[in-house]
Amino acid sequence: MLRNELIAYIDTLLNTQQFKDYAPNGLQVEGGMEVNKILCAVTASRAAIEKAIEIQADTLLVHHGMFWKNEPPCIVGWKKQRIFKLLHNNINLLAYHLPLDAQPEIGNNAQLAQKLGFSVETFCEEQGLLAICFSEKNQTLENLCQTIAKELNRTPLVIGNPNKIIQKLAICTGGGQGFFQAACNLDADAFITGEASEAQFHLARETETAFIATGHHATERYGIQALAQKISQTFAVECVFFDEDNPI
Ligand SMILES: [Zn+2]
Repeated sequence: MLRNELIAYIDTLLNTQQFKDYAPNGLQVEGGMEVNKILCAVTASRAAIEKAIEIQADTLLVHHGMFWKNEPPCIVGWKKQRIFKLLHNNINLLAYHLPLDAQPEIGNNAQLAQKLGFSVETFCEEQGLLAICFSEKNQTLENLCQTIAKELNRTPLVIGNPNKIIQKLAICTGGGQGFFQAACNLDADAFITGEASEAQFHLARETETAFIATGHHATERYGIQALAQKISQTFAVECVFFDEDNPI
């Protein structure tokens, strides 16, 4: 298929134009005009680019691309290496950040909720980045953490009473710890994100909302795979997922 056709499809699916983001969404590095084989990954790391070259993918599709706001703009060091490898092998780099977190069906938050057996009721806060989910099951915080450990293959960092019943769960994947106060304000029983900062420990102790951090990479592996699956179901394009197993 044509690269521009793929980009138009993704833009519609993810409502890309509606988002204010810290990095450009869409084509970040231009390769060939035809797309036949896609490698999808969480991050456009050197390892992901090398994998794309190895499997002869013409396109690398990621959640974390390059060219972040406030990053030094010069193409030197590791950034030069990545871009050189992409250009030298004529590989397109397509990146979708916040639009892929928030998408109500295939987005990171929706996919993680589904994996943990919760259904999303609303998407709230800034740009719909906080998902409020429910489960009828009378599971405790300890039960939920066991499910997380099993599904995500990560031992979560948990601050809260292990016997607390979790029915209302707030989710913001990745570096979403800044949304913890919003989750407390909404009376969520627990909040799941990828990363933690010092302040969340105290907030979790002093409110009724438990705090769970279970990996930025681990919580954001599912959106990009769901997007790739949609693409391969809709078009004659092969998609392969590369999991770098980043512990952070
Ligand atoms: Zn992220």
